[in-house]
Amino acid sequence: MAILVTGGAGYIGSHTVAALLERNEEVIVVDNLQQGHREAVLGGKLYEADLRDAEQMDKVFRENEIDAVIHFAANSLVGESMQNPAKYYHNNVYGTLCLLEKMNQYGVTKIVFSSTAATYGEPEQVPIMEDDRTRPTNAYGETKLAMENMIRWFDTAYGIKYVSLRYFNAAGAHHSGRIGEDHTPETHLIPLILQVALGQRSHISLFGDDYPTPDGTCSRDYIHVTDLADAHILAVHRLRQGGDSCVCNLGNGQGFSVKEVIEIARKVTGHPIPAVVEARRAGDPAALVASSARARAELGWNPQYGSLERMIETAWAWHQAHPRGYGGQ
Ligand code: UDP
Repeated sequence: MAILVTGGAGYIGSHTVAALLERNEEVIVVDNLQQGHREAVLGGKLYEADLRDAEQMDKVFRENEIDAVIHFAANSLVGESMQNPAKYYHNNVYGTLCLLEKMNQYGVTKIVFSSTAATYGEPEQVPIMEDDRTRPTNAYGETKLAMENMIRWFDTAYGIKYVSLRYFNAAGAHHSGRIGEDHTPETHLIPLILQVALGQRSHISLFGDDYPTPDGTCSRDYIHVTDLADAHILAVHRLRQGGDSCVCNLGNGQGFSVKEVIEIARKVTGHPIPAVVEARRAGDPAALVASSARARAELGWNPQYGSLERMIETAWAWHQAHPRGYGGQ
């Protein structure tokens, strides 16, 4: 039986595909290649298709024996979602509805969903627990929460079992150095910092230093992308073994402030990485740090890359080898 990975040419998707291939799973990738990169898909069968295109998706489900879906395909930029929520509702929410309908039609009853800490919004407590209030502060998080809820109702009504993984900040690159993070435009902190270290930018903009945190900059929980990939595979195993639906956070329980991230990157790269304080970015909560106790207990998840230094080292290796990302090769 094959696993369908939607968005498998994206950053976290491609690392999950690599991890599935390493475990000899049969992998089918669906990606519209809007954000994803063909070169990032290291194996399996790739369909350049959009979830909202019923004909293309019929072909995917008809041509393969799919028993589980790992669903990454979505737009995921907080800032952009505030400017253009319509895009997010259309691609993320409507795209997920189309996918779930196809799963129903073809009798596929297992889905692992790539959710986000942005579903919580400004947290009530830190570390955040799965049963804490969800009140997103940006349209991106709102659409991810809508997708989660949709999946839950499809479970209640049609028996589609799910694991929703709410993760925090993905970082790092594959140990092989073959795949890594390449977004256009790049908006994420660590790759932008590394572009400064490569001499592609003069400085890193620091979005706000007046947050109610110890050094005034936002605090985030960074997780290595390979550890995230492993969690998705464990979630598929849970569902294949008949396990119940559940929602799990994926984080390392420790927050790093923007200033701390810059400092560690200076150490890893040996570059001074000048930083310039600018205005806050719309929609950014002050601190997002997860408790991953449930993922450890329910999925048997045991992340291997605990240290942010190690994560930035793997990202730095990828960026040095691919200074222009995939397209520049
Ligand atoms: N950030 C920043 N400068 C940048 C990009 C990001 O100060 O050029 C901050 C951002 O405000 C947030 C943190 O870095 O507090 C992580 O942002 P990123 O976009 O990497 O991930 P997000 O937390 O939005 O998923």
